[in-house]
Amino acid sequence: MFIDLRSDTVTKPTEGMRKAIYQAEVGDDCFGEDPVVRALEEYCADYFQKEAALFTTGGTLSNQLAMKSLTNPGDEIFLDASYHINFYEAAATSAFSGVNFSLSRHDSGLFDVSDLEKLYASKCRWNQNYAMPRVVVVENTLGCKGGAIFPLQQMNDVFGYAKSIGAYRYLDGARILHASIASSIDVTSYTENADLMAMCLSKGLGAPVGSIMVGSTELIQRAKKYRKWFGGDLHQGGMMAAAGLYAMQHHVERLAEDHEHAALLHRLLGELDDAPAHYKGTNMVTLDISSLGMSPLQFGSYLSQQGVAGLPYNAREMRFMPHINITRTDIQKAAEIIKAAVREHTPAREAIK
Ligand SMILES: *Cc1c(COP(=O)(O)O)cnc(C)c1O
Repeated sequence: MFIDLRSDTVTKPTEGMRKAIYQAEVGDDCFGEDPVVRALEEYCADYFQKEAALFTTGGTLSNQLAMKSLTNPGDEIFLDASYHINFYEAAATSAFSGVNFSLSRHDSGLFDVSDLEKLYASKCRWNQNYAMPRVVVVENTLGCKGGAIFPLQQMNDVFGYAKSIGAYRYLDGARILHASIASSIDVTSYTENADLMAMCLSKGLGAPVGSIMVGSTELIQRAKKYRKWFGGDLHQGGMMAAAGLYAMQHHVERLAEDHEHAALLHRLLGELDDAPAHYKGTNMVTLDISSLGMSPLQFGSYLSQQGVAGLPYNAREMRFMPHINITRTDIQKAAEIIKAAVREHTPAREAIK
């Protein structure tokens, strides 16, 4: 059996979720008449204690709608280079919103107020004729940094700074529920100071498609207009929203299981001296294979021939992510296969003279 640990986006809908999709009553959401889309948006607005919510097809669309809604052409956005908006979304933000990025570059992906002060000071800001930072983005958890949690206090500090310079606060919370569950802090503590926040329904929560944005009625209305511009309106969207609503009602607590599975995988891989494994407390494990003399791409393709798929994550590391379709037994089997693959490729040490 093949064990796919590339990402928490590879999940297949559960029986209960498929039933919810099958039974969804639908209407035309462009007339505001899809009862399940409305129910999902109301549920999430209430869940995150915001005025309004918007269902979109995915996290990338939510991010682009947010950047478009919060800026005017010529504005500037502060974020870390490792964030999804910069790292994975091509140059979409410059193309759609006509803005530029000022990037912090931290090994951890975390920045603090002093980093933002440096970004501010890096250009002329004498008056409104110069580029003004209009948005500060925080990503939580950090998708390119092993799923690390952006600590709550630090996040609120940088959001406080954002407010002091007149910038909007955007939280790319694709996996914000993971941060909340792993830290045992109520999710609304993470989201309360964000003007807009987007979360993925199709990652650990296991829905086949979808993202939800939350914020004030005014900002969500702006994002809704741009969703139309971008062709993101869905007529009988309830077929998809039903999966998202089911996920919100049934799959949130179970994220803790993915965290446990990741911790277990980390423990089992910890026996490898030549390939250190890292775990940041949520649902990702990374394995540094740089001493093996092969690239993560090469290692990944060998590993999938052995029955386990991981993601070539960067120049040194593979990433493995447990998810809703992965059992404890899968994790144990995967660990055996990964360990064997590492040992297979460990260069022989020079004999001790
Ligand atoms: C996955 C992810 C996205 C994009 O979501 P898609 O639904 O794949 O478009 C955005 N931001 C972060 C932090 C993510 O992990």
